[in-house]
Amino acid sequence: MRKLALYWQILIGMILGVALGLTLSQFSWGSAFVQDWIKPFGNIFINSLKLIAIPLILGSLIKGVSDLKDISQLSSIGLKTISLYILTTFIAVSVGLTIVNVISPGKHIAEETRIELTLRYASDAAQKQADAQIQRETGPLEALENIVPDNIFGAATDNTNMLQVIFFSLFFGIGMILIPEKQAKPVKKFFDSFNHIILKMIDIIMMAAPFGVFALLTALVTEAPSGDLFVALGMYAFSVLLGLGIMLGLYILAVWLITKRSPSFFIKGIAPAQLLGFSTSSSAATLPVTMERVEEHLGVHENVSSFVLPIGATINMDGTSLYQAVAAVFIAQAFGIDLSFAAQLGIIVTATLASIGSAAIPGAGMVMLVIVLAQAGIPEAGLALIFAIDRPLDMCRTVINLTGDAAVSMIVAKSEGKLDEQ
Ligand code: ASP
Repeated sequence: MRKLALYWQILIGMILGVALGLTLSQFSWGSAFVQDWIKPFGNIFINSLKLIAIPLILGSLIKGVSDLKDISQLSSIGLKTISLYILTTFIAVSVGLTIVNVISPGKHIAEETRIELTLRYASDAAQKQADAQIQRETGPLEALENIVPDNIFGAATDNTNMLQVIFFSLFFGIGMILIPEKQAKPVKKFFDSFNHIILKMIDIIMMAAPFGVFALLTALVTEAPSGDLFVALGMYAFSVLLGLGIMLGLYILAVWLITKRSPSFFIKGIAPAQLLGFSTSSSAATLPVTMERVEEHLGVHENVSSFVLPIGATINMDGTSLYQAVAAVFIAQAFGIDLSFAAQLGIIVTATLASIGSAAIPGAGMVMLVIVLAQAGIPEAGLALIFAIDRPLDMCRTVINLTGDAAVSMIVAKSEGKLDEQ
C-alpha cells in the first residue's frame, strides 16, 4: 500500500482531534481528562519542535553563510530579503485596511454584544495591556540594541532570543568566509554533519506530527469559548480570513509568475508546515519544519533558506500585520470612532512595525495590537471585543506568516540562481 502523504496524515490527525474534543466537551469530566491525559502529548510535541529551533538556526545559518562565495553575495541576499519582507507586510496591511473599510464589520456588532464582550473579557484584555506596557517602556533603539547579545550561550538558552542567535551565526559565518578556505574547512565539515543530524531529528519529530496535532487540537477544542460569540464576531472573523485568503492567493501568484512553480507544487511542498503552524499557532515552533519543507520539497538552496526563513519567522508576519490593521479599525468602528485617512495611514506604519516586533508565539500579535490601538487613539479596552475569537484567527494568521516567508525564500532563491531545477 502506498504511504499516505504527510499532509494527509496531519490533516486526519487534526480532524480526529477536533472530533474527539467536541465529543469530550459533552461530558462534565471531558475537559479535565483532556488536560491530564491528552494535552501533555501535544505539549511534548511542541517542545520537541522548539528544542530543535536554536541548534537548527546555529547550524544551518553558519553552514549556509559559509557556503557563499563572498560577502557581496550575502549582502545581495540580505537586501532582497529585507526589501521583500517590508513590501509584503505593507501589502498585507493595505489589504486588511481596504477590506475592513469596505465590509465595516464593527458596524454589525450589536450594542448588547459589545457590552457583554467588554465585561466578560475585561480582565484578559487588561493582561494583554500589561504585557504591552513592558514592550512600550523600551527606548527607540532598544530593539536594535537587543539584536547583539553579550553572551552567545546566554542568548541560546532562550527561544525568544532568536534574533541574537541569528546575529551570532551570521557573524560567525562571515568570519569563516573571510579566512582562507583551508583553515575554515574543519569547522565547515563539522557544521555540515551537525546540520544533517538536525534535519534527521526533524524527520523523526515529523513522524509524530499527526499524533501531536491530534492532541493539540483535542485540547484546543475543549478549551474554546461557546459558539454564539463566534457568530457575533462573524463579520470581523470573515474580514480577517478574507484578507488572509487574499494574501495566500498573492503568494501563490507571485511564486508562480516569478519562479514558474505551479500553485500545486508550492502548496503541496509547504502544506505540512502550514498545518503545523495552524495547530501550534507559532511560527517559531514551526520553523524547523518550514525549513525542511522549503529546502527539500520546494528546492531552495540552504544558503538562501537558512538566512531568509529564521529571519522571516522573527520579523516577517504578514498575517499578523493584516489582522492588526483589521482589528484596530474594527474596534474603532464598534466604538463609533471615525478614523481619519491620516489615522489609517498611521495604522499602516504602526501595524508594520508592530508585526516586526511580535514574537513568533501564540497570541503575540494581540499584545502588539495594543500599541497599534494606542497610537491611533482607539480605546485599548476594545481588545476585550476580539478576545473570544483570537485563537482561531491566530492559527490562521500563523499559516500566512510562514507561507509568506516560504514564498519570499523561493523568490530570493530564484533571483540568486539558487532554486533547484524542477
Ligand atoms: N502566532 C503568530 C505567529 O507565531 C504571531 C501572532 O500573530 O500572534 O506567527
